[in-house]
Amino acid sequence: MARSWTLPDATVLTDPEALEPYRRDESHVQGELPLAVALPRGPAALKELVRLAKAEGFGLVPRGAGTGKAGGCVPADRRAVVVDFSAWRGEIRLSPQDLCLSAPASAPLREVKAAASTEGLFYPPDPNSWESCALGGTLATNAGGPNACKYGMTRHWVLSVDALLEDGEIHTFGISSVKANAGPALGQLLIGSEGIFGFILGATLRLTPLPREHATLLLPVARWEDLLDLPGRLAASGYLPSAFEFFDPAVLAELRAHGPEEARRLPGEALAILEFDDRGCTSSAFLEGLMDLLGPVAEHLEIASDARQRAGIWAVRRMTSSFLKERHPKKVSEDIVVPRSRLREFFAGLERLAIPSVTYGHLGDGNLHVNLLGAGEADPAKLEGQLLDLFRLALSLGGTLSGEHGIGLSKRDAFLALSDPGQIQALRALKRALDPSGIFNPGKVI
Ligand SMILES: Cc1cc2nc3c(=O)[nH]c(=O)nc-3n(C[C@H](O)[C@H](O)[C@H](O)COP(=O)(O)OP(=O)(O)OC[C@H]3O[C@@H](n4cnc5c(N)ncnc54)[C@H](O)[C@@H]3O)c2cc1C
Repeated sequence: MARSWTLPDATVLTDPEALEPYRRDESHVQGELPLAVALPRGPAALKELVRLAKAEGFGLVPRGAGTGKAGGCVPADRRAVVVDFSAWRGEIRLSPQDLCLSAPASAPLREVKAAASTEGLFYPPDPNSWESCALGGTLATNAGGPNACKYGMTRHWVLSVDALLEDGEIHTFGISSVKANAGPALGQLLIGSEGIFGFILGATLRLTPLPREHATLLLPVARWEDLLDLPGRLAASGYLPSAFEFFDPAVLAELRAHGPEEARRLPGEALAILEFDDRGCTSSAFLEGLMDLLGPVAEHLEIASDARQRAGIWAVRRMTSSFLKERHPKKVSEDIVVPRSRLREFFAGLERLAIPSVTYGHLGDGNLHVNLLGAGEADPAKLEGQLLDLFRLALSLGGTLSGEHGIGLSKRDAFLALSDPGQIQALRALKRALDPSGIFNPGKVI
């Protein structure tokens, strides 16, 4: 069927060899082979795809850069066409007066961040994949990252969204201002929707002045449990880091033994990376206050003395996920969240469950990457049970089963099993209202 299509302003791939890579993203999930992959260069191709999908009854699976970690951009079944936005050219337009910029979904996130900084402005969302992911993927997953600890998630930085919906038309939700209250914010429904409500074509993003100072600290500890109260203590005392990341002893040991040069020099039994970007955060008054607050745990604190050292520390943190995946290709990486105040209870619970795992991640906001490195060798039923136990633990502490990666294919069954049925019903009603033909990313999330 796919071979007979002609799409305006698009490339269509149907050769099975060319389709094969589209079965994967950066999660452990393998999807089905799509009918075809379309690479639109403009809206005419999308409109035609929507018409064809409705007429012929196949699904449309949006794909950005394919760095997702939930199997969201891979086909759930064989009656799907992947829509790869990477060939869509578009301009990033900056409006310093309005403190915003507009960009197409295909824009690499690194270009969006760089464009803002040319005018001394800052777009904070910084998933650790920010050098490789596309803006559209970050909008559709409501991406987080280290900075979420202070600046929040992607959705907090979106003023308006352009989307092509099931009616085949392009709609703009929102305006270029933080003040817009004419009814509920429909654009926010598309942020984090993982492609199930329609195609995101672009967005207008809120910006803030670029921080001019950074204090980047390495906090090595002998007993990693000593780190667990710190995020809550800092937040409650008015010291809000722009990032508070951590490696447990097992992850740190792997990095030190097999990682790049910078990783081999990392100190401690376990390690936290703290960064502050408030004005005055490099002053001795600020740092002395911080040391007093941290107390004896800060005995071996190191401060990055220049931009090169800071870049080296962040390079190690940002490569941790890919590094572990290279060493353990079949690992399963989760991204549960618990409130900062319940971190200690979470780790006590994880120990009781005896799930063989290592953990690193965004300690500052309670978003932890629990990695089951041996998942590939585990009995699938046992693995599923362990993941359900992990999610139940997070939920029992007032947390959630995903802080940033989303549900996609990988967590769909668990999401359906563990969520409030009323919530699932409401989501399905929204799906029916926005996508009555059920063409957008079928088999995902709900
Ligand atoms: C090394 C590494 C580190 C990472 N660190 C983080 C992190 O710190 N924080 C974080 O949040 N994530 C992180 N991720 C996960 C991932 O990079 C993010 O989720 C990112 O936002 C995905 O962007 P993408 O362009 O690759 O999207 P894809 O993987 O292509 O797609 C992701 C989802 O968005 C949908 N989608 C994509 N484009 C569109 C569109 N135009 N319209 C509608 N739906 C669309 C897809 O259907 C899919 O459901 C990391 C991944 C890697 C590999």
